[in-house]
Amino acid sequence: MDKKLNGQIAIITGASSGIGAGCAKEMAKAGATVIVNYPVAGAKPMADAVVANITAAGGKAISYQCDVSKEDEVIKMFTDTIAQFGTVDILVNNAGLQRDAKFVEMTLEQWNFVLGVNLTGQFLCAREAIKEFLRRGIDETKSKAAGKIICMSSVHEVIPWAGHANYAASKGGVMLMMKTIAQEYAPKKIRINSIAPGAIATPINHDAWDTQAHLQELLKLIPEKRIGQVEDIGKAAVFLASDDADYINGTTLFVDGGMTLYPGFEDNG
Ligand code: NAD
Repeated sequence: MDKKLNGQIAIITGASSGIGAGCAKEMAKAGATVIVNYPVAGAKPMADAVVANITAAGGKAISYQCDVSKEDEVIKMFTDTIAQFGTVDILVNNAGLQRDAKFVEMTLEQWNFVLGVNLTGQFLCAREAIKEFLRRGIDETKSKAAGKIICMSSVHEVIPWAGHANYAASKGGVMLMMKTIAQEYAPKKIRINSIAPGAIATPINHDAWDTQAHLQELLKLIPEKRIGQVEDIGKAAVFLASDDADYINGTTLFVDGGMTLYPGFEDNG
C-alpha cells in the first residue's frame, strides 16, 4: 500500500470517537504516527481503544488528554508531542460538540461552551501548529508542504440550522478563520483546508439515525440516500494531508452525499 503520510506526526483532536477516530485510523494506515487526543480522563479508555486498534493493524499511535478550549493544555500538548516525536506535520482540528436550544432560550453558557470548543479550540491548536510549521519549514523527505491543517467544519458553515445558532456560528467562524490563515501562511507553504461533513453516523447525531423512522427522515436531506461513515471523512482527510492535494489551499471539501445540493428541489423536474 502507498503510505502517503509516511513518517509524519499527526495530532487529531477529539479522536476517541466518531470522525476523529476514523481520521486517526485512516491516517495511521497511511503511515502517520497519530496523537489520539481526548478531552477528559473519562474518555481515556475510548482513546486507548483507538490506539490499540491502530497498533494491532501495525500502525503507530498514542493517546493524549487535552481540553482544546484551554490555552495552557493546548500549548502543553504541542510541547509534549514535539519533545516526544521531534515535530508535528499534520493537525486535524476535529474536536466539536453541540448544545442545542431555541435561540431565545439559549443560555450564554451554552453559547460560550460551543464557541469555546468548536472555534476557540481550533484557533488555539492551529496557532500552536503553525508556530511549529514555521520553526521547522519544509522537510522534503516527508512532504512538499511545511505543514498541513484540516479543520473539521460542517455543512452548517453554509446551511443555516434553526435551534443550533451556537453550532452554526462556530462552523461559519471556522470557515473564515481557515480561509484567513490559509491566505496568511500559504506563502510559507503551509496548507490549511476544511472538510465539511454532511450527516455522518457518530455519537454526536445518534438521535438522527437511531430508528428506521429517524433515518428515513434524515435520508430526505441526502441525495445519495445513505448516511455517511467515518471512513468517508478519514479518507478525505488523508487526501488533503497528502502531497496529492499539494495545490489545494484555503478550500472546504464538502463530503456530504450531496446534502448541500438543495435536495428539497429534487422532485420538481
Ligand atoms: P463525536 O461526538 O463522536 O466526536 C467529537 C469529539 O470531540 C469527541 O471525541 C469528544 O470527546 C471530543 N471533544 C469534545 N470536547 C472536546 C474538548 N474540549 N477537547 C478535546 N476534545 C473534545 O462526534 P463527531 O460527529 O465525530 O464530531 C467530530 C467533528 O465533526 C465535530 O467538529 C463535528 O462538529 C463535526 N461534524 C460532524 C458531523 C456528523 O454528522 N457526525 C457533521 C458535520 C460536522
